Amino acid sequence: MLVNIEDVRRLSDLLSDKRRVVITAHMSPDGDAMGAALGLKHILAENVFSNDDFSLTVIMPNAAPNFLMWLPGAEDIVVAENNTEKTAHLLQEAELICVLDYCESKRAGTILQPLLENTTKPVLMIDHHINPGTFAPTLSLSYPQAPATAFIVLELFNRLVEEGLISRYVLSKDAATCLYTGLMTDTGNFAFNNANMPQLYRMVAQLLEAGIEKDKIYDNVYNQFSVDRLRFTGYCLYHKMRIFPKYNTALIALSSDELRRFNFQSGDAEGIVNMPLQIASVHYSVFMREDTDKIKISFRSQGDRPVNVYAHEIFNGGGHANAAGGDSTLSLQDTVKRFEDTFRKYFTK
Ligand code: 5GP
Ligand code: MN
Repeated sequence: MLVNIEDVRRLSDLLSDKRRVVITAHMSPDGDAMGAALGLKHILAENVFSNDDFSLTVIMPNAAPNFLMWLPGAEDIVVAENNTEKTAHLLQEAELICVLDYCESKRAGTILQPLLENTTKPVLMIDHHINPGTFAPTLSLSYPQAPATAFIVLELFNRLVEEGLISRYVLSKDAATCLYTGLMTDTGNFAFNNANMPQLYRMVAQLLEAGIEKDKIYDNVYNQFSVDRLRFTGYCLYHKMRIFPKYNTALIALSSDELRRFNFQSGDAEGIVNMPLQIASVHYSVFMREDTDKIKISFRSQGDRPVNVYAHEIFNGGGHANAAGGDSTLSLQDTVKRFEDTFRKYFTK
């Protein structure tokens, strides 16, 4: 068991008497951000609040990629970027604000960040990233050992029942589908981040018993490429990948012109950063792309070769040991130069 009993009790206290709940996740929501947030919403709606008047809203800083929009409940998500006033109003009215799959207010994006930093409402954080601390939630359920935030959400409800803190607990197919998507995507279809393995697979069994169609979920998430997206992937690998053999490192850097050429949509770069790790001698992989106001950078590594320290110290970011991110306000060229000037000191094995 990962979640400690005191946290379960505190969660039970925090949930009681709350009728207007807002659930948020991080900017550029991924499968775990969407799956954990929507999974939590389904479970709360179908169990905790089922007999009462309540309002439960998921707010995402910006839109999720299309390959996640089939998730049950995704159609009701409020996108903060397109609904500034509604977002402010919902946070103003909320009795509880849940912060899922991030622990730095910066990752909530420019609309939500100030609202979260200045709120007087109780804030519940459920997250598996290290370095919690840039904002102080009322209750922080921070478990960096968890393979996904969806894992923590499911365990919390399992424990609430085991401890008799809620009387009944139905895990609907919709809730299970969302949570499975979080587990599947944050573990690369159960290939990595597999701390708590036996429990992870027990959870998968629980979700299967709740009726999920796991092959369909896989298909919905991973087999929905556009022609442009697959050609873009090929372009990255064939034309853009640079290898630094002495440092077991690969770098792919894309300008906005190149992105436009392939009609780049949000989510189209998902997974590309992992691909160079398929090369036997590559243990570190870096992917950069020009975004509207900055360069967005992803880092991946294998084994005992942390990249989060580098991401934090050099590129204003952080994350997990083997999967981290950051950004740069320099030009793409200067960001690549900064990388070339600094990575050798960090990527040593
Ligand atoms: P991705 O490369 O998929 O965007 O991000 C990988 C992981 O890096 C995320 O799960 C998150 O933990 C972390 N990450 C990405 N961007 C940032 C950032 O700007 N700051 C911090 N602290 N972590 C980040
Ligand atoms: Mn996650």
